[in-house]
Amino acid sequence: MNIHEYQAKQLLREYGVNVPNGLPALSVSEAVTSAEKLDVPVVVVKAQIHAGGRGKAGGVKIAKTPVEVASFAQELLGKTLVTHQTGPEGKVIERLLIEEASKIKKEYYLSFIVDRQTANIVMMGSEEGGVDIENVAAETPEKIFMEYIDPVTGLAAFQATRMAYAINIPEPAIRRAVTIMQKLYSAFIAKDCSQIEINPLVLTEDDKMVVLDAKINFDDSALYRHPEIAVLRDESEEDPKERKAAASGLNYVNLGGDVACMVNGAGLAMATVDMLKFYGGEPANFLDVGGDSEPEKIAKAFKIMLSGGQAKGIFVNIFGGINRCDNIAKGIVEAAHIVSKDGHSLPVPVVVRLEGSMVEEGREILRNTPIANVFTCPTMEKGAEQIVRLVAEAREKE
Ligand code: GDP
Ligand code: MN
Repeated sequence: MNIHEYQAKQLLREYGVNVPNGLPALSVSEAVTSAEKLDVPVVVVKAQIHAGGRGKAGGVKIAKTPVEVASFAQELLGKTLVTHQTGPEGKVIERLLIEEASKIKKEYYLSFIVDRQTANIVMMGSEEGGVDIENVAAETPEKIFMEYIDPVTGLAAFQATRMAYAINIPEPAIRRAVTIMQKLYSAFIAKDCSQIEINPLVLTEDDKMVVLDAKINFDDSALYRHPEIAVLRDESEEDPKERKAAASGLNYVNLGGDVACMVNGAGLAMATVDMLKFYGGEPANFLDVGGDSEPEKIAKAFKIMLSGGQAKGIFVNIFGGINRCDNIAKGIVEAAHIVSKDGHSLPVPVVVRLEGSMVEEGREILRNTPIANVFTCPTMEKGAEQIVRLVAEAREKE
């Protein structure tokens, strides 16, 4: 789960991390009142969306007067901000952060992520802050430093100090940088984070270290331990299909293409997405229906895949184990009942490959309840090839 920058900063403040004073605002008048409360000569008006790259896209403004605050707030609220992280459709700005402006001497990069390979937490740092770390990694990888932190012993002072020197924090600010790293690490552990990214961490003109931007991701599986975090969820920032799927116990990730797929098991789902790509298709989603699929659940999955007109075809790829092919077939029949007007057709072509437990019964159901637009296929490869071709034909007709 992601949260907004202002929420992340509030959380870090509780852990004693040095963040600028700031207040959220949902309207122009609130933006002005927030700026007045801060009572500083210069404020920053920052768009709050779950995506970075706002600075370059015009979502971060420096305001020197209440009139400027009002005009920037007016300009930003309700506007769709397109950054390199939002995708071309952008994100609507519904909240702002009004923050005391900092006088920046230098920007650094600092982040913490879980490294599954070593079962450690990695602290990553660079003196190339404020820019895309991906570019730094590609062009000057020698400027990125890592410290592997064993979660049993925690972040050692010598590691934080080594990082501070590696990224060339000047002498007067070394202690402050180390303290920030240690506090960030405490927050990371205490809140079961999967990522904390500070870009930039800044050195101010008076040699203070300040967290100027903060992105925090939480491990969804640990959210039950943190009701105080769960309430920070902003559903308007999430993909509506992913939200509906999660509510139905389905594992759905929108991938943006037009060939939908419904698979059981995450491994087979990944392989299916790969195979659709191999045959030249653009997968619309990753969908793992899990192992206990009742027909109603399958029908729900169909409704989600078909909503919004994104999918031009669906590939059902099921290897029945605990999951039974007859239940899948019943679910497809039920889906046709729910989503079509005549009760026995689906709006887009569906290629079904069933194998494994109760496969004969499953095929029998599909044979006996003919649904227009449903094709069965004996193998995964042929099925992937067929659905990609059918979708390409549908696209040509448009
Ligand atoms: P992002 O573009 O979405 O990552 O948003 P950031 O919060 O990182 O802000 C982008 C850039 O705006 C930063 O790298 C800074 O250069 C600039 N910026 C943000 N806050 C301040 C501030 O208080 N003072 C100054 N001078 N620049 C700021
Ligand atoms: Mn940033």
